[in-house]
Amino acid sequence: MNGRVAGKVVIVTGGARGQGAAHARRLAGEGACVIVADLREDQAQALAADLPNGAWAMRHDVANPADWDRLIARVGERHGRLDGLVNNAGIAIMADLGATDLATYQRTISINQTGTYLGMAAASSLMKATGGGSIVNISSIAGIKADPLFFAYTASKWAVRGMTRAAARSLAPDRIRVNVVMPGIIDTPMLTEAVPGLDVAGFAAGATPLGRAGQPDEVAMAIVYLISDESAFVTGAELAVDGGIVA
Ligand code: NAD
Repeated sequence: MNGRVAGKVVIVTGGARGQGAAHARRLAGEGACVIVADLREDQAQALAADLPNGAWAMRHDVANPADWDRLIARVGERHGRLDGLVNNAGIAIMADLGATDLATYQRTISINQTGTYLGMAAASSLMKATGGGSIVNISSIAGIKADPLFFAYTASKWAVRGMTRAAARSLAPDRIRVNVVMPGIIDTPMLTEAVPGLDVAGFAAGATPLGRAGQPDEVAMAIVYLISDESAFVTGAELAVDGGIVA
């Protein structure tokens, strides 16, 4: 442990598994008190129990404004401050434009896009009161290079990049930084659940200049940088962690 985020209180949404769990582990390993927020309450609780620095977990739906009110109120009561938010929760449903019905579109937008908006609004209210903070939003390579087979997902992830820039400008006077990470093909359950039977290694090898899938912890190291004070002059920035796909 090097303590790169020592003493910081950080929420990770969608933190129960996949990349969010890696972010929670890496941030806690670097000294943060992590709040693991996820719909998968049992997995979130189990992970938090395994982390140092007083980590805790809460059942949380990013698409529900009342859940954000509850979460931020509890963080305020317990810690009196909030230093970081990783807006990581997301879903991916494979459907091109023709196959996307309104329910699929709205569900994807409500979690990936509205959830990110609600998170920034709720977290920034507490951060403003306590001197600033760092928000990291999770877009995707589909947020910069359209994926026609994931129409609603592509729409939501482009929106996350736009909201990041607008929020970064609005929140700068309050010393709240807002940046966005665009992961490439990362080996998590999301891929095989969205595309059953997908050969992740083979797919990634063909699509990625570095010739392989990324591991969740390789994204987590970018998250630690953006939450930490090492990135104190970085806001409104976009960081692809994608093995070269966007290039
Ligand atoms: P994952 O499916 O393994 O994890 C997503 C987590 O989000 C799960 O724990 C799930 O329970 C949680 N979640 C879903 N809906 C939620 C809600 N409404 N409220 C709270 N939690 C909710 O997927 P992952 O690969 O770890 O994805 C993390 C983020 O990275 C997502 O935003 C995803 O879009 C993005 N991403 C993933 C990839 C990839 O290749 N895996 C690539 C680019 C971007």
